[in-house]
Amino acid sequence: MTKEVDVVVVGLGVGGEEVAGRLAEAGLEVVGIEAELVGGECPYWACVPSKMAIRAANLLAETARVDGIAGRAHAIPDWTLVAERIRVEATDNWNDQAAVERFTSKGGHFVRGRGRLVGPGLVSVDEQTYRARVGVVLAAGSTAVVPPVEGLVDTPYWTNRQLFSAKELPDSLLVLGGGSIGLETAQALNRFGVEVHVVEAAERLLTAEEPETSALMREVLSGDGVTIHCGVPAVAVEHDGRFTMTLSNGHRLVADELLVSAGRRTQLRALGVETVGLDPEASAIATDERLRAGQGLWAVGDVTEHGGFTHMAMYQADVIVRDILDLGGRAADYRAVPRVTFTDPEVGSVGMTEAQAREAGIRVDVAVVDLPMTSRGRIHKAGNAGLIKLVVDADRQILVGATSVGPTGGEVLSALTLAVKTETPVATLRDTMYAYPTFHRGILDALNKL
Ligand SMILES: Cc1cc2nc3c(=O)[nH]c(=O)nc-3n(C[C@H](O)[C@H](O)[C@H](O)COP(=O)(O)OP(=O)(O)OC[C@H]3O[C@@H](n4cnc5c(N)ncnc54)[C@H](O)[C@@H]3O)c2cc1C
Repeated sequence: MTKEVDVVVVGLGVGGEEVAGRLAEAGLEVVGIEAELVGGECPYWACVPSKMAIRAANLLAETARVDGIAGRAHAIPDWTLVAERIRVEATDNWNDQAAVERFTSKGGHFVRGRGRLVGPGLVSVDEQTYRARVGVVLAAGSTAVVPPVEGLVDTPYWTNRQLFSAKELPDSLLVLGGGSIGLETAQALNRFGVEVHVVEAAERLLTAEEPETSALMREVLSGDGVTIHCGVPAVAVEHDGRFTMTLSNGHRLVADELLVSAGRRTQLRALGVETVGLDPEASAIATDERLRAGQGLWAVGDVTEHGGFTHMAMYQADVIVRDILDLGGRAADYRAVPRVTFTDPEVGSVGMTEAQAREAGIRVDVAVVDLPMTSRGRIHKAGNAGLIKLVVDADRQILVGATSVGPTGGEVLSALTLAVKTETPVATLRDTMYAYPTFHRGILDALNKL
C-alpha cells in the first residue's frame, strides 16, 4: 500500500524534528518516522544528561576549591541525585509522549517505526510505503562506533546509552577514546569518586583540537587523578565479571565497567541509501550547500559529513526548511562551526586550527595567552587553567580560527565565533573594548601578542 504525502522525514531527533515540525506548521503534509524516541540522542542520552552530570561534578570540584580561598568545605558525592534528575527532568523516564504531541500539534503525522528508502521519493516502514511529492529528509543520526579491538564486541561494554541510564556508578571505569565524550565522562565520574583510566590510540587527547589544548587537558585531568594512556591502542578486551583491557605495550588495565567513546557513525546501509544511488558504505551522506543529497532528497545532522553537534543539526534544519519552502534559501556556511567540550576547564574552539590553516596554504600568525596570566585568571585562582589561541590569516588580517579554554571557555567562544564568521578585521578586534576583568578580555591580551 502506497500513500502520497508532501515530505517524509526519517528520524525525529534534533534535526528531523525541527524540519518536520516547521514544514508541518507551514501547511505541508508531513510524515515523521521515529524508531526510538522523538527528540533523538541529545535530550535522552547525550547533551542534556551529560551536562546535568557535569554540572553536578563541577559543583563538587568547586567545593574542593574552597580551601585556601573562602574557608573550608567538604562535599559528599551522591550520584543517585544526578541519576534521578536525568530520569525526571531530562528524559521523563525516557518517555517521548510530550515530544510526539509537540510534533502532531503542528499538524505532522507521526509514525513509530524504522523507515527505509526503497527508491527515489519512496520510504517504507513496516507494511506501509510513502511516496513523497516534494521529497525525503534523512535525519537518522549516529550511533557509537565500537572499534575492532579483539574480544570487545562480546563484552557488556557501555556506550553513552548505558552510562546515562545508570542508577549507580561503578568503582572503576575504563574509557576507550580520549575525545570530547570520553573526557567529559572521565572527569565527571572521577569527581564522583570513580577510578578512571582513559585509553587513547593517538599520541594526544582531543586530536581535533590544538596541541596546546591537548597538553593542557592532559595536565588538568592527570592532576584531578584520571590516569591517561595516550599512543597505546587497546588490543584486546576480556570480561569475567570485571573488564581487563590489554594495551599495545602489554600493560593490562582492570575495571568494573568499560565505556566506549571512540567516535560516532551513521548506519547508511540500514537506511536503504543504495536504492537512490548513494554509497551505503560511506561514512556520511555528502550534501551540497542546501543540504541536498540528490533529486528530492535532503540530509540533516549527524548523517551528514558536517554533523556531530546539536547546533549543527538545528542550523542545517533551517537551511533545509528555507529551501523546501522557497523562503529565499541560504547556503550552509561551515567556516565558523563552534565546538565545545564541557570539561572543566571548558574547551571551546571555532574554525581552523593552526595546522589546518597552514595545510590550506594560509600564511598564518598565531598568539597564545595562558589564562592564569590574565587579570581575571589571576583573580579566579583555583580552577583557572586555560588559554586563548588566535589563528590569523596574515594576508587578510582576519581570524580564521580560535580556541578558548577556561572556566567559561564555551561562553568566551561566542565573541571569537562571531569574529571568524563575520571576518572582522584584526584592527577592529583590537579597537574593541573588552570589559575588565572578564575572561573574554583575555582575547585582547592575545591580540596584543600578535
Ligand atoms: C554523550 C554525548 C554528548 C553530546 N553532547 C553534545 C553537546 O553538549 N552539544 C552538542 O551540540 N552535541 C552534543 N552531542 C551530539 C548530539 O547529540 C548530536 O549531534 C545530535 O543529537 C544530532 O542530531 P540528529 O538529529 O542528527 O541525530 P539524533 O539526535 O541521533 O536523532 C536521530 C534519530 O533518528 C532515529 N532513527 C535512526 N534511524 C531511523 C530509521 N531508519 N527510521 C526512523 N528513525 C530512525 C533515531 O532513533 C534518532 O531518534 C553529544 C553526543 C553524545 C553521544
